[in-house]
Amino acid sequence: MKRFVVGIDVGGTNVKLGLVNSSGRIISRTYFPTKSYIRSRNKLIDAIAQAVLRLLRAARVPQSSVLGIGLGLPGLIDPQRGFVNFLPNIPGWKNVPLKKMLEKKLRLPVFIDNDAKIVALAEWKFGSGRGFDHLVCLTLGTGVGSGLILDGRLYRGADNTAGELGHLPLNEKGAACNCGGVACLERTIGNRYLVQRSRKIFGKGLEPQAVGKLAKRGDARALRFWKETAEHLGNALAGVVNLLNPQCIVVGGGVANNFRFMRKTLIEVLRRRALRVPARRVKVVRARLVKDAGILGARVLVEQSLGRSS
Ligand SMILES: [Zn+2]
Repeated sequence: MKRFVVGIDVGGTNVKLGLVNSSGRIISRTYFPTKSYIRSRNKLIDAIAQAVLRLLRAARVPQSSVLGIGLGLPGLIDPQRGFVNFLPNIPGWKNVPLKKMLEKKLRLPVFIDNDAKIVALAEWKFGSGRGFDHLVCLTLGTGVGSGLILDGRLYRGADNTAGELGHLPLNEKGAACNCGGVACLERTIGNRYLVQRSRKIFGKGLEPQAVGKLAKRGDARALRFWKETAEHLGNALAGVVNLLNPQCIVVGGGVANNFRFMRKTLIEVLRRRALRVPARRVKVVRARLVKDAGILGARVLVEQSLGRSS
């Protein structure tokens, strides 16, 4: 019986692979650094195929027991055609027919999608978003993204770009963002801009993790830093809540490790700034799956793409 899925999370730092069984458990895993292959697209694709075969061999799972392979990638993906349109942080990836290339190498069905969308699928089926039909799943990190589950299905938009919350303008004027716009949310709470702001407060640039450590010890400046971050995010989310009326917002990504310092302010800002009915409805929770979301969501992607319910 075909019951396994190989989930692959292609990140700017590592490529993580996991073999997921039918109850959504990762029974075997491996990873390799993306950096070693960052200069050559074809070598990276080869390395992914080799890692899949190694993973199956190590778990003694024959290829005939595998339903398919799901990949999440950090960029603009066309899941219907199986093309990677563009990866902003990995050079050389433009209009790559990745699905076809991997299917030829592995002789298994391959499905691809944007990583934030795959994380949303994972949190919806296996994590904090379980049981909701209207869900916004945020990924806060170097980039700020989201995946939208609306009416019980993943919403992709006309060109698969739906959910690009990081490029929601917070103001009419402001600092230029690398998307070409100005005053985007990501320009305020993307990782590197948080580090910039920390420089003003602490006199040196601190990674969000370090500011989190200070906040844990009760450092007033660190606590204020997270409160301000939550205010910026909350303003953007007030718009999202008014637009989509979600039941739940799941906050994930590296920066979300500091969710406990932001939660109260986020909820306060939403209550104050969003419309009363959707503001009272929405729950704001932390993502549960964290590092495994990319792998587990790939299982959901494969099942849905093959027309099986999960
Ligand atoms: Zn932008």
